[in-house]
Amino acid sequence: MYKEPYHFVLERYIDPGRFKEIKSFAQDLPTPVLIMDSNLIEQKYDELSASFPIADIYYAVKANPMPEVLKLLIRKGAHFDIASRYELDLLLNLGVSPEMLSYGNTIKKKSDIAYFYAKGVRLFASDSETDLLNIAAVAPQAKVFFRILTEGTGADWPLSRKFGAHADILFNLILQARDLDLHPYGLSFHVGSQQRDIGQWDDAIARCKYLFDAVAEEGIELSMINLGGGFPASYVDPTFSVQEYAAEIMRFVEEDFGENMPKIILEPGRSLVAEAGIIVSEVINISRKSQSNMYQWVFLDIGKFGGLIETIDESIKYPIYFEREGMADEIILAGPTCDSMDILYENFKYLMPDTTQAGDKAYIFTTGAYTRSYSAICFNGFPPLNAVMFNKEKS
Ligand SMILES: *Cc1c(COP(=O)(O)O)cnc(C)c1O
Repeated sequence: MYKEPYHFVLERYIDPGRFKEIKSFAQDLPTPVLIMDSNLIEQKYDELSASFPIADIYYAVKANPMPEVLKLLIRKGAHFDIASRYELDLLLNLGVSPEMLSYGNTIKKKSDIAYFYAKGVRLFASDSETDLLNIAAVAPQAKVFFRILTEGTGADWPLSRKFGAHADILFNLILQARDLDLHPYGLSFHVGSQQRDIGQWDDAIARCKYLFDAVAEEGIELSMINLGGGFPASYVDPTFSVQEYAAEIMRFVEEDFGENMPKIILEPGRSLVAEAGIIVSEVINISRKSQSNMYQWVFLDIGKFGGLIETIDESIKYPIYFEREGMADEIILAGPTCDSMDILYENFKYLMPDTTQAGDKAYIFTTGAYTRSYSAICFNGFPPLNAVMFNKEKS
């Protein structure tokens, strides 16, 4: 079989100087471990706010709820999109004021709505009558934004079908909200996470415009659009930059709304924290299943249950770096647990230098989002993914 030298373009994912520092920082830590680089989170936050100067940023806490991450974003002035009373308690305990919070989950218990209201939260998402009636009952006069159903087409990790409703349903809900003495505030959507097709925002914003106009005829002035998350991070497949996303998306909003620009809210998760994370992992074993099988199986000490669940259907392809030099082997990558679904990549063939040995480290880039928060607590006894913040003083 013809082989080429192993070549991983490190610079595509990290500044090599920074990588060196992170490596030495992680040297004595047991693997697997997620290292979060605080400077990069800050940089991503600054880039996003500069690209959308008129928007309020509500960080989607589920992407990475490490208290160190939240503290940093609190310091930056971020708002937060939260989905449970546990995320609420976490943020209130860190001193966040309830005006900075949005209860963005459309699936919530009445008792939880009451809990949020008692704690001072006044901004709620909704997409159904049952939920709206619950909000009206226990969160009087709250601001409500209504979630539009999107298809998730073009996204690596779609969030479609389960959330939102069609315009015909929402139209009636918005009128009903007014009659229930709530404040119908605006609309939201999520085009799907790691959305590669910027045009998906165009469709969704056009639907917002349609609903703004339709309810205006009934005397209701909506004033806010929540553009959701979906902004990209850098994985194996390249994407446009956040600046390019922002320029296009703001053009869509301006085309539809002209002089009457609504208030804009963003709910980024992945794009703020993914690139700040590197998982340091160890190669446990390299083996072949039969003499005639071309591909070696490479087992890492992290897999689907340790935090890499977004490898389901090979949806998210993390850049993975092996340090040795050698010729490149195409491999099958799997995790350490006793479940046969704990295979990371089998169809898409990752490359590994043929000099790699058990005990070597593998560096998994762009793992700051949806890893630790997804990791199982005790499957096969493995603890949840350990995560540490790396704070380097800026020079
Ligand atoms: C998960 C989620 C987000 C964050 O999405 P990303 O694609 O990670 O930016 C934003 N809003 C809502 C309602 C979500 O559920």
